[in-house]
Amino acid sequence: KLGNATAKAELGRAAWKLFHTIMSRFPDQPSPDERTALKSYIHLFVRLYPCGECAEHFRQIVEKFSPQVSSRSAAAAWACHVHNEVNVSLGKAVFDCADIGEFYDCGCAEDGEAAVG
Ligand code: FAD
Repeated sequence: KLGNATAKAELGRAAWKLFHTIMSRFPDQPSPDERTALKSYIHLFVRLYPCGECAEHFRQIVEKFSPQVSSRSAAAAWACHVHNEVNVSLGKAVFDCADIGEFYDCGCAEDGEAAVG
């Protein structure tokens, strides 16, 4: 089956955007319940990602590099790394994970801060 490369790429961009933005909002000091939640999210993202070959390929990457959920920075760095693994396998440029901190903006205020705008 030929598939639709444009739709696949659009889905990928949307999925990565949400994936990294979730990491960028994960707590710095997550509770055990929050760690479990992120692990579950990652597990289900891998399992249910709606492109079969992508999901299978990503499952192997996540099996090799197990999810890091101990803090926001650990989760963000892990997600950046596994996305880079996909980038390399697709012949794309590697993203500099040192830049990840400010890159993903949910447009929302930090918890406890007043919303602006
Ligand atoms: P994307 O890789 O979609 O990245 C979007 C933007 O995120 C980039 O423009 C950049 O600003 C930023 N970014 C890039 N790298 C990183 C990083 N490491 N960390 C944080 N931000 C970054 N496509 C296939 O053809 N075959 C596959 O097997 C396949 N597997 C996939 C598996 C998953 C789980 C996902 C989510 C997508 C997969 N895709 C696959 C789609 C593919 O990864 C791309 O999303 C798609 O090709 C569009 O690429 P892009 O160049 O626009 O940038």
